[in-house]
Amino acid sequence: MTQTYAHGPDPRGMFGRFGGQFVAETLMPLINDLAAEYEAAKNDPAFLEELAYFQRDFIGRPSPLYFAERLTEHFGGAKIFFKREELNHTGAHKINNCIGQILLAKRMGKKRIIAETGAGMHGVASATVAARFGMECVVYMGTTDIDRQQANVFRMRLLGAKIVPVTAGTGTLKDAMNEALRDWVTNVDTTFYLIGTAAGPHPYPAMVRDFQAVIGRETRAQMLEKEGRLPDSLVACIGGGSNAIGLFHEFLDDSSVGIVGVEAAGHGVDTGKHASSMAGGTPGVLHGNRTFLLQDADGQITDAHSVSAGLDYPGVGPEHAWLHDVGRVEYVPITDHEALEAFHTCCRLEGIIPALETAHALAEAFKRAPNLPKDHLMVINLSGRGDKDMQTVMHHMQEKLEKH
Ligand SMILES: *Cc1c(COP(=O)(O)O)cnc(C)c1O
Repeated sequence: MTQTYAHGPDPRGMFGRFGGQFVAETLMPLINDLAAEYEAAKNDPAFLEELAYFQRDFIGRPSPLYFAERLTEHFGGAKIFFKREELNHTGAHKINNCIGQILLAKRMGKKRIIAETGAGMHGVASATVAARFGMECVVYMGTTDIDRQQANVFRMRLLGAKIVPVTAGTGTLKDAMNEALRDWVTNVDTTFYLIGTAAGPHPYPAMVRDFQAVIGRETRAQMLEKEGRLPDSLVACIGGGSNAIGLFHEFLDDSSVGIVGVEAAGHGVDTGKHASSMAGGTPGVLHGNRTFLLQDADGQITDAHSVSAGLDYPGVGPEHAWLHDVGRVEYVPITDHEALEAFHTCCRLEGIIPALETAHALAEAFKRAPNLPKDHLMVINLSGRGDKDMQTVMHHMQEKLEKH
């Protein structure tokens, strides 16, 4: 029997030994409610029709599959394509998931949305859909992230969201996620928790994946139209793993398609200053699911480090942890330095300023492309645009100049 991969999770929300529902007892009825409501919604033609309408007219889908001709020439190997999620409304893939979840919130009669955010992209996407659907929106954000993502904080305020600064821990995404979970336990009746990545307790990882899977479905159709066959490889960056699983899921059972997930290695996996939960982590429980985590010998979560705020998370979605276990997807680390180099190459050669998260996927693709044959079709998920990262990039260029 050939093994298949695109079927998970099991009814308890497990992907192999990962996933599940590790939440406070008070949340269990709510989580079960949500799972049941989502099962009903995804089989309801009216829900799917409304989702398709907002994907088209609000987000701007389908996003193009673009032939990166100059990068292809530059590296002289694989034919490189970009799946252009950075052209979506709000500048990244996150809106795909937010539209899906807010339609579900509306269906459940909820009036208040809570969200956590790291880079601020999920906060902006959540504030955007909350404004569109007339719901109250509260965004939990670590104080470190508030400092380094001021433009996004201002965007959220313009859209009517309330930002709650989180000072606990390192003041980053994991701390914001903990606060959001606390809020949810307290306000379960009125509140919908809009999780921004393919993590959290079941049904979130599967639900977020399904809302992002439009990326892979479009890619398949677009590549068949352009090249008459499937891509040979897919490359995407991994924070919690939602843009990656969104591209990968459609192709998991196509054994000819090589799949590569790129984690943030920060200063290097050996330095301890990184965000590579699979290359440098061990299994444990965080945010309601069992997965690979950065933790010390006592099970204390350790700080994640990355130049990109969106990858600076000490865990990874449980489906990726499982795909790593079974070997269907190859996970590799890329350092800050490598990502910044790839960022500049993409700007100069394609006229596209990518997000620093995305630059990690680009860096891995650029390592591989020269060694692959010219008929190798490679798709990189261009998960977001780099406007939000200007300050960070400027700072790094300054440092480099001062060193010389
Ligand atoms: C948030 C973000 C990511 C990381 O999140 P995933 O859930 O792993 O996709 C990657 N790229 C961009 C542009 C982001 O905004």
